[in-house]
Amino acid sequence: MSDGEKMKQLLDYSFEELEKIVLDLNEPKFRAKQLFDWLNKGAEFDEMKNLPKSFIEKLKANDYIAQAIKIKEVLVSKIDGTKKYIYELFDGNIIEGVLMKYKYGNTICVSTQVGCRMNCAFCASGLDGLIRNLTPGEILGQVIAVNKDNKKGDERAITNIVLMGSGEPLDNYENVTKFLDLVNAECGLNISMRNISLSTCGICDKIYKLADDGYNLTLTISLHAPDNETRLKTMPITKKYTVEDIKKAVQYYFDKTGRRIVFEYAMVDGTNDSIEHAKTLVSLLKGLTCHVNIIPLNYVKERGLKTTSNDNIKNFMDFLEKHKVSCTRRRTMGADIDGACGQLRRKYLEENK
Ligand code: SAH
Repeated sequence: MSDGEKMKQLLDYSFEELEKIVLDLNEPKFRAKQLFDWLNKGAEFDEMKNLPKSFIEKLKANDYIAQAIKIKEVLVSKIDGTKKYIYELFDGNIIEGVLMKYKYGNTICVSTQVGCRMNCAFCASGLDGLIRNLTPGEILGQVIAVNKDNKKGDERAITNIVLMGSGEPLDNYENVTKFLDLVNAECGLNISMRNISLSTCGICDKIYKLADDGYNLTLTISLHAPDNETRLKTMPITKKYTVEDIKKAVQYYFDKTGRRIVFEYAMVDGTNDSIEHAKTLVSLLKGLTCHVNIIPLNYVKERGLKTTSNDNIKNFMDFLEKHKVSCTRRRTMGADIDGACGQLRRKYLEENK
C-alpha cells in the first residue's frame, strides 16, 4: 500500500463520524466541533490554534490529513474577473474548477471525477476515460479552498455551486450525495440546495433516486439533441437511456421537488441545430416546466466539432420562443483565460509532462 492509499481525508467525514473518530482517540467530544469548524475554513493542522498539539499529533499518527486539495494555479480573467483554478489531489492527480462572479454572488463550478466515462463527442473531460471518482471531501475541498482564497473577513465568498466540472456526478452517486449533505450542513458551509445545480447527461435510475432521497436542487440535463438518432451521434449514453426515458425521469423529479428542470443544449454545427431539430425539441419538452440554456459549442481541439453560426443560433432560439419554450443563451465567461470546459486540466498536463 502506498502512503497515499493509507491517508484518510478528514473532510470525507460527516460531523457525527468526526465525533466518533475523536472519541476513539480518547479526546472529549467537543473537539469534533472545533475540528469540523477548522476543516470547513480550509485550515491545515498547524493553523488550528485552539486544538492541543497532542490531539493533532494523534490525528497525524493515525494517517489523517486536513486539506487534501491544494490550489496549484489560479488564472484571473481581465474581462469579467472569472477565476480558473488548477488543484492537485493528494495522489498527484490534477483537476480544475472555475469561480464566476455575478451581481448576486459567486458561483463555483466543481468537478466530481478525474476524467469521465461518458465520452461525449464534444467534451474534453472524457478524452482519457475515467481515472477515478472524487471522494466527498475532495469535492467539498474545492469549495473550501476557493472560499478561503476569496473571502474577506468571516463572510462566505461562495453563494452558489454548480456540479459542472469534469465527471458525471450521477456516476459517482454515493460520494456526490454525501458531498451535498456536507456542504449543506448547518455547522458547515451551510449552502442551501436551492443554490446548487447538478448537471447530468441523464443517468435516469439515479435521477429517480435523487428525487426519492429528497435532494431538491436544480437538476440540469445535458440534452444537446431532441431525438435519439441525433443524440446518439454525440452522446453514447443514449444507448442506455433514451430521450423519452429522460423526459419521464425529469417529470418525476419535478413532481417530487417542484424544481424547474434546466436543459443544456450546445449548438453543434450541422448536427443538432436545424429548425427541424428546434421543432422536435418543442414537442419533446411539451408539458414540462423547464428552461433551455443554449450554449455556443466551445472548440475542443481533439474533438474537432464546430459551433453553429450566431445567425442560426438566433433562428433556433426565436423558434423556441415563438413556441413558448423559455430559453437563454449562456454568456461566455473568462474567454481570455482559456476556452472549453476540461481544456485547462489537459493543457496543464501537456505543459508539465
Ligand atoms: N457529466 C455532466 C456534468 C458535466 S457539466 C453532464 O454531462 O452534464 C459540463 C457541461 O458542459 C455539460 O452540459 C456538457 O455537455 C457541456 N460541454 C461539454 N463539452 C462542451 C463543449 N465543448 N462546449 C460546450 N459545452 C460543453
